[in-house]
Parts: sequence; C-alpha cells; structure tokens
Amino acid sequence: MKITANNPNRKSWLPVLKGCDFPIQNIPFGVFITKDDIITIGTRIGEYAIDLGAFHQLGYFDGIPLTDDMFMQDSLNDFIADGRKTWRLVRNRIADVFDSTNNSLRDNKKHRDVIIFDVNEVEMLLPVDIGDFTDFFTSKHHAKNVADIFNIKNGPLENNWVHMPLGFNERASSVVVSGTKIKRPYGQTFSEETQKPIFGPSQKLDMEVETAFITTAANNFGEPIPVNEAEEYIFGMVLLNDWSTRDVQRWESKPLGPFLSKSFASSISPWIVTLDALEPWRCETPNQEELLPYLQPANKKNSFDINLNTFIETENGDLTQISESNFNNIYWSMSQQLAHQTINGCNVRAGDLFGSGTISGENIETSGSLLELSWDGQKKLTLNDGSKRTFLNDGDNVILRGYCENEDVRIGFGKCTGKIVPSIKLK
Ligand code: CA
Repeated sequence: MKITANNPNRKSWLPVLKGCDFPIQNIPFGVFITKDDIITIGTRIGEYAIDLGAFHQLGYFDGIPLTDDMFMQDSLNDFIADGRKTWRLVRNRIADVFDSTNNSLRDNKKHRDVIIFDVNEVEMLLPVDIGDFTDFFTSKHHAKNVADIFNIKNGPLENNWVHMPLGFNERASSVVVSGTKIKRPYGQTFSEETQKPIFGPSQKLDMEVETAFITTAANNFGEPIPVNEAEEYIFGMVLLNDWSTRDVQRWESKPLGPFLSKSFASSISPWIVTLDALEPWRCETPNQEELLPYLQPANKKNSFDINLNTFIETENGDLTQISESNFNNIYWSMSQQLAHQTINGCNVRAGDLFGSGTISGENIETSGSLLELSWDGQKKLTLNDGSKRTFLNDGDNVILRGYCENEDVRIGFGKCTGKIVPSIKLK
C-alpha cells in the first residue's frame, strides 16, 4: 500500500509554521487529556492536537475496518496491535482529511470544535502501556569512549560487541512522559578516599541521548523474527533520555552490569513518529564486520538520518546546546536489534520499547552523555550563563530534540524534557 500521507507537496488547511516538527507529512500518534478531562488518542498538525476518538465517531475513518473504541483509549497498544496495514490506512486518511484540497472537516465548524484543540491546552500522557523495555548499546563511538574513560582493556569492542547488538533488560514501570520531573536518586557508591561503600544522593547524575522504537506483537513464544522481516513490526520511534547515575553504576556494575543506576527513570517524547513517516530519510548503516547469517540484512539501507540535539536549560532560563548527534551513528540497525532480541524465541508484544543506547558521534562534542562530554568529570562544560557542569545540577532541565530535514519537508519528534529536582527526604 502506498504511503500517500508522505507526499511532500501536500499542504494542510491548518496553519503550520516553517521549522515546525509537525507538518501534514508527519502525522504522529500520541495520547492526551483535554481540559474537559477526556483522554483520547490523537495526532498533531502544527500547533493543533487532533482528537482521533471524535474524528472516528464523526465518521472520518469510514471504510477503514476499526473497532468503535479504537481511539477512545488511554494507550495506543490496541491500535499498534492492529498492524502496519491499519497504521497506513489511518495515516493516509488523516492526511487526506486535513489536506488543503479537502473541505469536509475544514468547513464543518461543529465538528472542528470537538476534534481540534490548541496543543498547549492539552496534556500529553505516556503514549503506550509498556510491557517490556530493552536498552541496547549500539553506538560504537559511545562504546569506545566508555572503554577509553575507564581504561578498559580487552573490553566488549575487542570481543563480542561487533558480533551482536548488546543490550539489557530495563524497567518498564519507570518510563515517564516528557515533562515529568526527575528526583535526584539515592544510591550506594564507593568512596575511593575511604575505600568503603557510602550512601546518599547520586553526585554523578547523567542523561543518555537515545531514541527508542515501539513494536507491535510480532512473534509467537519460541519463534524468532527474521532480520529482513523485523521492520514490518516496528510501529514508530520516540526520543528517549535514559537517566543514569554514574557513581552508582560504577560500583554496582561488576559483574552483572547496571541495575539501580538506570532503573529509576527513563523519559520519552510523547508523539510516536511512525517508521512510515521517516521513510524519506532512510540511509545506510555504517560498514559492519562479518555477520552471522541471522543478523545479515538483505540491504544496507536500514538506518535513518535523524538529527539529535541536546540542551540544558538552567533555573534562570538560559539555554545551552551541549551536544549535536545523529541517529545514523548507530552501528546496529533496529531490525538487527529486533532479530537479535528474538533469536532465542523471546516474544515481543504490542507496546514494547527498545532503546538504542546512548548515541554518540565520532567527535567528543557529538556525544550523548555528560560522562563523555565531561570525560567523567575531568573537563568542565561552560554553559551560556557562565556556570560550569560536569554532571547535572538540581534545577537543570535537559531537553532532547530530534528532526529530519530535506529540501521539501522537515518532520520531527518535538521535545523530550526532564527537570532535575532535589532528592526527597528519606523516612
Ligand atoms: Ca542507556
């Protein structure tokens, strides 16, 4: 089925400012609550949130086989479970109804009033009910930087890393939507000075610039997903900030890897940008070493050109860009990640979340963590207000942005933000 929604010549009758992440070619999916306390699945064009529950009820999806309450839900899981054919039909229809040549909704004020909201007047919620959350480790530059910082000889890059996408099982319960405040977590760390473990609020609170993909139910328990079919089951992508406490991580990670240093919070952007919408920005993955057959893709065009910019906004409102990276830095494609995740027969479900791991580029300025940008605290970053950072201070608001651009169209993810607030008082 053709993805007619992506037509770069389309214009919407809803106004879209230049540089906006949400032109009619995007049509992302999210969940929001209106001022009247109605929770619905919706999409966004320009500065407008579109209630797809009302849109469906008023007949604008006529002819597409959908259950009556498909969009009147507090998560996208059922819609995602319907599969790619439905996603395409729905996205194409939304694009048609909001196309500047279509007057069916444009000229119906009564319908417009119940379908279209100012995006600033709705509150975005977590878009999916996440059953399982895997976090991969797929940027080679990030893996190399970490090995260099900690002086790791014969680390993963010299061993298993180039042969399979490494990952670990994260916590789904603490994935929160953009805008949720992040309390500085407590943890156990090791004092080099006294050579004893100590307890207190983390002194090395960090961000991790990542993207994540969300799947539909793809395979039966015990049956792998072939690498060349994997994309069929990927609904779309979000920005992900996988908050980390480096001091806790260092002490607890031997030998099983990170545990509490990652599980306290992970923030995601609220609008899921579909893989279909990203299609014009498809590009090749970096050259890969010899692969075992189950990871060999039929072609190399399995990555996407997505700019990733990261900012710190300080308490006084000053904004400093601290990193500029790109999704095309990841070594292992999303389809290889999904093929690897399921090669042992592990089943994935609608709404499962798969993080890319920190996405760092070749130069240190393009790194996706403060661990790398400050070289584990050895190098101070100067923000625009003159203050210095190695790791995050209370009051810092970390803002991730992601977008794709060509000569005709720009689409993006909006923002993924999280402000650090002081630790709670322990009882
Ligand atoms: Ca991570």
